[in-house]
Amino acid sequence: MPFSWPFGRNARRRQLLATPLPELWEPTLHEHVPLYAELPADLRARLIDKARIMVAERIWAGSSGLELTEEMKIVVAAQAVVLLAGDDGYLYERLPAIQLYPKFIRSRPNRHKGDSDTFTVAVGDAWQHGNIRLSWPAVLESAADPHDGENVVFHEMAHHLDGLDGQMGGQPPLATESLRQRWPIVKEECRQLVLDLVHGRRTWLDPYAGESAEEFFAVVTEAFFEVPHELNEHHPELFSVFAELYRVDPREFDRR
Ligand SMILES: [Zn+2]
Repeated sequence: MPFSWPFGRNARRRQLLATPLPELWEPTLHEHVPLYAELPADLRARLIDKARIMVAERIWAGSSGLELTEEMKIVVAAQAVVLLAGDDGYLYERLPAIQLYPKFIRSRPNRHKGDSDTFTVAVGDAWQHGNIRLSWPAVLESAADPHDGENVVFHEMAHHLDGLDGQMGGQPPLATESLRQRWPIVKEECRQLVLDLVHGRRTWLDPYAGESAEEFFAVVTEAFFEVPHELNEHHPELFSVFAELYRVDPREFDRR
């Protein structure tokens, strides 16, 4: 997504990356983000560079009494940059801040799971031109199993990327003519999923993807990075469009 310069071309970033990786990083990744142990060395190093920049440049906040630590930023950023594995152009420069919460988040109604009378209880949410809010326990849980198909950081970051064209409507900025031509495949798969749900048919994708085009995009993004082989098996065309969008084939670093 061509919204900024390639990340290495910025003097301040170069300076940051020229300093040794702070000691906290390796043990934190080892303990909390097992995905990193599976990655090929060159990709792993590149993602750590991006995560360091994200930790340094974004605004981070602990909300509702959560005491924010450096370790928390590392765990969130390390996962967030996985979505940028194939693209050195954008590094969340348009994301104002990341807020972490000790438990759940009170979110706008009808947006995420777990309705209550006046608000929705969510593990995360993302706002157009706004912050990403995440439940810290949910972040940890997502990171602990990199192949269960669910990841709240991937999900909310996907919403953010979706909104980069000015609207969180299920279609992120499409950089190439080929992608623009192929995007109707995604819309058709979304329509088919809703039909399957309406007719009570079992779906391989999480039924939550049928809530809206934007949730479809976020849920498929989770599946694309966490269970790429399975997504490709069940929805090969969808997989192929997402591989073109994210410019990466996560099957290559899925070491299960
Ligand atoms: Zn969502």
